[in-house]
Amino acid sequence: SMEYGPAPESPAEALTWLVDQGDRFGHFIDGAFTPPGETFESRNPATGEVLASLTQATQADVDAAVSAARAAQGKWQRLGGPARARHLYAIARLVQKHARLFAVLETLDNGKPIRESRDIDVPLVARHFYHHAGHAQLMESEMPGREALGVCGQIIPWNFPLLMLAWKVAPALAMGNTVVLKPAEWTSLTALLFADICRQAGLPKGVVNIVTGDGAVGEMITASEVDKIAFTGSTEVGRKIREATAGSGKALTLELGGKSPYIVFEDADLDSAVEGLVDAIWFNGGQVCCAGSRLLVQEGIAERFHAKLKARMEKLRIGDPLDKCIDVGAIVDPVQRDRIAAMVAGSDGEIFQSGPCPEGCFYPPTLISGLSPASKLMQDEIFGPVLVSATFRTPSEAVQMADNTRYGLAASVWSENINTALDIAPKLAAGVVWVNGSNMFDAAAPFGGLRESGFGREGGPEGLTAYTRDSRKPKALKPIAPFGGDEAEPQ
Ligand code: NAD
Repeated sequence: SMEYGPAPESPAEALTWLVDQGDRFGHFIDGAFTPPGETFESRNPATGEVLASLTQATQADVDAAVSAARAAQGKWQRLGGPARARHLYAIARLVQKHARLFAVLETLDNGKPIRESRDIDVPLVARHFYHHAGHAQLMESEMPGREALGVCGQIIPWNFPLLMLAWKVAPALAMGNTVVLKPAEWTSLTALLFADICRQAGLPKGVVNIVTGDGAVGEMITASEVDKIAFTGSTEVGRKIREATAGSGKALTLELGGKSPYIVFEDADLDSAVEGLVDAIWFNGGQVCCAGSRLLVQEGIAERFHAKLKARMEKLRIGDPLDKCIDVGAIVDPVQRDRIAAMVAGSDGEIFQSGPCPEGCFYPPTLISGLSPASKLMQDEIFGPVLVSATFRTPSEAVQMADNTRYGLAASVWSENINTALDIAPKLAAGVVWVNGSNMFDAAAPFGGLRESGFGREGGPEGLTAYTRDSRKPKALKPIAPFGGDEAEPQ
């Protein structure tokens, strides 16, 4: 059991939280932390220092977590929406109470600027729990005929460790499900702190179970006796999970990659569009599934826009993520930094990089222009602070270029002409289209993709429905998931 003093104000205090736990962590199963087993190291990417040792889950660990979730589920569901809501409110309040600790820990573990974890990630996490507490309260009256799916396996990536946890856990619990969640192996610390928050909030044991480890653990969860898999991560792994669950009757939602277009028309407010682009591609170092990573700018203003953009890039501050003035922090892991560097090195475009960039696990904001539409960097997700740019002449060419992608997660349209914006937006193949904005998230708005960006929605009424089933249909007669069909359809 863990007790906290006042929320830590310094990284040293956040590290004390780790050290006090012995800095070797087991899993959180059936309401308690298990003793550490075979461990691997979790590092601070900005400094390379080891933060903690985490346990690689075994099949027995995953089985224990799934059994605990199964044993807890019926009672959790029968507790009813209003009682579940009280638990979710308690979690939200504790996240707020320990917001500073969560933010520092997230930044230490992931390398994202403290300004982002403090002002964006953690507040959104709290809001997500408040929002879904409200839905839990209203479930019986507003969602007649819907009931919990049962036990949900949830597998999340490293780019928004705690926020992706919130996106998965809050709606699942609100609707009466219990969960087995696996954080990404590079960034599990805030999930473990969250586990302790659940304990402090008096959440019944077994409702939230967290197991740590690499992709092999994700495979075990996918193969286990769960009723649903919710996955966020790469398209490649998403494809494997879809194959592994096909025909099993397990519900499935996949939130995968993207190469989202950022379209700037010649009548756009160029200064705003530059600021929006900074947010679109350099927020979280571009390690954002819906990053506006493909700039499409109208020919007549391209030169002026690029000049403004480069001037702005020169002003971005790259460095120590714990420094409040930093715009771009560390890349999550050297593996990922090397991947980004190799992709850029293989490009035949014109490369502009802002400096100075510190040594170590950092990568500078980068703009690449002059690429052919079919080139690798125009098509493949880089998942780093790298923007590719191309020009278009007419609105229809803009749409055609924007949709020339195998993804379909998000898009931004910049124009001061409402007719242009409203004409273009619905023509874009994307789960969300932002007009004169980017990266805007709200728990009440569904989020998700088309094509290779996945299927199913998180957030909004659609996200809630995806954690429920039709209570009039017998549970034992689950439909066989059709190949090529949409398993995310409400059951
Ligand atoms: P990843 O797919 O490698 O890993 C994601 C998670 O899946 C990790 O927890 C990992 O351990 C686990 N995993 C790995 N192999 C597995 C397997 N065979 N079976 C089950 N689980 C397995 O992705 P990543 O590198 O952590 O994240 C980056 C990717 O995630 C990017 O492509 C990005 O676009 C995508 N992403 C999408 C969204 C979205 O909402 N659409 C959000 C964030 C990230």
